[in-house]
Amino acid sequence: MAQTKYIFVTGGVASSLGKGIISASLAKLLQATGYSVTIQKLDPYINIDPGTLNPYEHGECYVTEDGAETDLDLGHYERFLNTETSQANNVTTGIIYQSVINKERRGDYLGKTVQVVPHITDEIKYRIKLLGKSKKYDFVITEIGGTVGDIESLPYIEAVRQLRWEMGRDCLVIHLTLVPYLAATGELKTKPTQHSVKTLLEYGVQPDILVCRTEKHINQTLRNKIALFCNVESNAVVESIDTETIYNVPILMLEQKLDKVVLKKLNMPDDREPDLTRWREFLQKLKNPKKEIKIGLIGKYAELKDAYKSIIESFIHAGTTNECKVKISFVQAENITEENTKEKLSDLSGILVAPGFGERGIEGKISAIKYARLNKIPFLGICLGMQCAVIEFARNVLGYKDAHSTEINPSTDHPVIDIMEDQKKIVSKGGTMRLGAYQCTLSPDSKIFSIYNKSEISERHRHRYEFNNKYLEEFINAGMIPTGINQEGDLVEIIELKDHPWFIGVQFHPEYKSTVAHPHPLFINFIKAAMEMNG
Ligand code: GLN
Repeated sequence: MAQTKYIFVTGGVASSLGKGIISASLAKLLQATGYSVTIQKLDPYINIDPGTLNPYEHGECYVTEDGAETDLDLGHYERFLNTETSQANNVTTGIIYQSVINKERRGDYLGKTVQVVPHITDEIKYRIKLLGKSKKYDFVITEIGGTVGDIESLPYIEAVRQLRWEMGRDCLVIHLTLVPYLAATGELKTKPTQHSVKTLLEYGVQPDILVCRTEKHINQTLRNKIALFCNVESNAVVESIDTETIYNVPILMLEQKLDKVVLKKLNMPDDREPDLTRWREFLQKLKNPKKEIKIGLIGKYAELKDAYKSIIESFIHAGTTNECKVKISFVQAENITEENTKEKLSDLSGILVAPGFGERGIEGKISAIKYARLNKIPFLGICLGMQCAVIEFARNVLGYKDAHSTEINPSTDHPVIDIMEDQKKIVSKGGTMRLGAYQCTLSPDSKIFSIYNKSEISERHRHRYEFNNKYLEEFINAGMIPTGINQEGDLVEIIELKDHPWFIGVQFHPEYKSTVAHPHPLFINFIKAAMEMNG
């Protein structure tokens, strides 16, 4: 295979301009042209990973097959490309420093003073080149978190400067900026972009391509102006206009010829057209739903959509498969009580109780589940959502009024959800849960079997607590059936209710594996059940 090419994506002017989506869209175009691509995210914070970060700070924590707790952008990469990422695809300043400090303690630096340049930058460069070393990829796209000019991002930008020098034409830099529209004068403004590029230049990095986020079209005169002030060719000034769905962005980038400009600059053949037939079919269906339903997402952070990113995207994929627009009604679990369930939940065609940690909102989730169980509303419980379904059943069907998870009530007499034996001795919080892909065997006569249509599945996990097998017989006898088991650990992974049209709880996270190319069967079937319920 030819030399791997490296593409760096930096951001300027403001955060949240969509570097992750631009990176994923470019990767999609290159992949659809026949190239192998992977995307990496470098995060300039000192946490080792976002696993210990509050979703208020950082949105959802995405989990990879190999059990890495990563930035939510990796979810976009997987959803766009339908290929797996791994621990190597998300590197933080914490990881970089930890590794350099460990080397220093081992004496690897042989008496040298350990410094940001070259030791930290060498470690960053090593992590970037690691993905290329596997020789699996034609392109490695590295997205650098943060905004150019931040103190935290400096070592990363410096590493990019050094790599450009070393790699020459085998790498390029794409800088994403904002071109704001001033309504008062009716003008798009290029000055913030000019300044942002100047900042990059101060650090010794000349971007090759500018992607300009904008709410109005950028005309040729403006492109020429940006090109002139920022030393880029005017065909390398790419407009990224606001659009109604992120899944449009690859098409917009295709129209802007971002892929062609990249290939040309990297001396790669640019005569093939990307095959986006399936992507366009998906978009066509997404934009022309035949039905609409409302699903309740009951979570701790109703006001915080990023905390449930993968679930929301899974609904978009599954709704599209069913040609149905899924409207998500975010319900804050804390606000639900036994008394107000009807008022809060009666207009929903399906109820999903979200994953989560800690006590807040638990009782509201349990009340919502009781409502779904008694009123035969399609219910999907994910991780904590499944655990709450088990607690609800224990309390209201088995009659154990104090039943609980020992995460919330360690002294309950009926710990129907309990900590795993090998987790009891763990004190450190980071990266110590049951994480990543595990096998699960499905019962042949179950609903879940008919959904997956196979008996062996693998799904990703992120939790410490488990169904307590001490109660298994009682649950089965009363009608809550374990229909998926991890045989290695004898762990209940899935529960179903016998007397209910669609009631499934899963200890794993199906949402991490739903992609545009492969919407997740569990979500597809849940939406189907909700549509049927709706008539
Ligand atoms: N807090 C629960 C546990 O650790 C559930 C975690 C989750 O929903 N991801 O087991």
